[in-house]
Formats: sequence, structure tokens, C-alpha cells
Amino acid sequence: FLMDTRAKLFVAGHRGLVGSAIVRKLIESGFENLVLRTHQELDLTRQADVEKFFSDERPKYVIVTAAKVGGIHANNTYPADFIAINLQIQTNVIDASYRNGVKKLLFLGSSCIYPKFAPQPITEEALLTGPLEPTNEWYAIAKIAGIKMCQAYRLQYKWDAISGMPTNLYGPNDNFHPENSHVLPALIRRFHEAKVSGAKEVVVWGTGSPLREFLHVDDLADAVMFLMDKYSDLPHVNMGSGIEVTIKNLAELVKEVVGFEGELKWDPTKPDGTPRKLMDSSRLANMGWKPKISLRDGLIGTYKWYVENYLQ
Ligand code: GDP
Repeated sequence: FLMDTRAKLFVAGHRGLVGSAIVRKLIESGFENLVLRTHQELDLTRQADVEKFFSDERPKYVIVTAAKVGGIHANNTYPADFIAINLQIQTNVIDASYRNGVKKLLFLGSSCIYPKFAPQPITEEALLTGPLEPTNEWYAIAKIAGIKMCQAYRLQYKWDAISGMPTNLYGPNDNFHPENSHVLPALIRRFHEAKVSGAKEVVVWGTGSPLREFLHVDDLADAVMFLMDKYSDLPHVNMGSGIEVTIKNLAELVKEVVGFEGELKWDPTKPDGTPRKLMDSSRLANMGWKPKISLRDGLIGTYKWYVENYLQ
């Protein structure tokens, strides 16, 4: 690493899907001075608390994974939370980082920042070229503001803030809530519960036709370290796998991995969301990074984690 592995590094949101994967990766990579705070110890929506934390700790590096996240149903149900909490967290953390001598900050967003009908695969240039997908525009608007804030601080203060936009992520420590989670953990849970209870069928939302790209969170963590180490520029960077499946194929794969033998039924009264969401990640690929974990292997590992950890 070009980064100093002995310097203080703050991972905001280290207990979540993304933050916990980054912490595993950092430890594996020899970083020995991680600064971590649980939600209870530090509420990132409280500006004064965040400022005090930064002036006390003065980390050298910051990775912002803390966010209010959720799937299509949660985004639709809690629009105020999704916009307000995310704006508060990121504004507090980015500004306090700058003011307290952080050398480099990486802000993570999501592929839903792009217009609903952006040409596919979606390049970084598609940002702000059209209307957003209404089911997650609240979250998307906050994340777009985060990218722009990093760019503005770079321009005005010559400060090294970068942002990465991951595609749909999955892996250990995901949210397996039956309604509020994303599709992959929701399906793992639903198929597992159906298998255990001996149910005859499992209902999957929508029509099955939407296409989604998935990246294992351990690959994402690897890409985050890659960017922290090697990337210092204004544009945000897409972080995808190129692995794209229909929700129908995903449901069949989860069914197989979990070992559920009943029927699969569709509920078209539930929203499909955006028809396709594949990122063009050639900017990252051209820098020399590529993912290593296949969707099948990643699913097998995630299901194992769910059974061994989540259900315990
Ligand atoms: P999105 O990628 O922002 O649309 O978020 P999701 O991961 O929540 O949904 C992806 C797709 O999976 C949508 O087309 C959903 O309708 C579909 N889907 C099918 N079953 C489920 C489910 O049980 N939970 C969720 N969240 N989505 C589901």
C-alpha cells in the first residue's frame, strides 16, 4: 500500500454490510490503527458530536459507509428518513473530516444515483442527465449531494475526497429483514424459512424480468482499498462486477443454493423498480482492478453466513 498502515483510519458505519467487509479487509491488509464507533457511541446525524469526535481523534483516512439504506419497499415507505438521515451523516462526516486534517476521504454511494432510463451499461457521465427512479429518489438525491460535496471540497480546498458508486452488494452482515431488505437477502431468508417450514411455494415480488448486477461485498472492500490507495481525481468511480442476472434467474439460483424444493410464484402487484441497472465499470477496470467472487460462490457463502450467524 501507498497508504500508511499505521495511521488512524476511521470507517464510518463499520457494523454494516459494507463497513464490516472493509474492516475485515483492512485488518487482513495490516492496518493497525482503526478508529471505530458504533451507532450508540456516536450518532453521525449529530453535527456537534461528529465535530468533537474528529477533533479528538484526528484520523488520517476516512471511509464513509454509514448510511440509511434499504430495499425498494423501505425507500418507498420512509422517504423522509432516507433523504434527511443520509444528508446529515455525509455532510457532518465530510465537513468535519476536511476541518480536522483528514488526508484522504472516500465516500460511497450507489448505482441508484443514475437516471432511471440511463443508457446501459451506465457510465459515470450519465449522472444528472435525466429523472431518477421514483422508488429510491430520496436516497439517490442525498448520495448525489455527497458526490458533489466531495467534488466541491476538492475544487475549492484542493482536498483529496473521492467517491465510489457500488452496484447492488451482498454478503455477510446484510440486512435480512423480510420487507425492508434488498432482494438477495430477502430471498435467502424467504427460501430458507420455506424450506424449514416445509412450505409448498415461495412468493417473489414483481415480474422477475428486471435485470440487476451483483457484487460481493468482499470484492467491493478490495476495490475500496484499491481506490483509497491509487485514485485521486474529481470524477466518481463506478464499482460493478459486470455480473448481471434477471430477478427470475436470481430467484432460481437462491432456491437452488438454499435447497428449497417447492414452487416459485410471482407477485406482480409488487413494484419491479428500474428495468435494468448495469454499471459500466471500465474506469475502475482500466485502472487495473477486477472482482474475484462469482455470484454462485458468493451466494453459497452468504447463505452459510446467514445460517451460522444471523439465525444464531
Ligand atoms: P432495487 O435494485 O433498488 O430495485 O432494490 P431491491 O433489491 O429491493 O429490488 C430489486 C428487484 O427485486 C425489484 O425488481 C424487486 O421487485 C425484486 N424483488 C423480488 N422479490 C423481492 C423481495 O422479496 N424483496 C425485495 N427487496 N425485492 C424483491
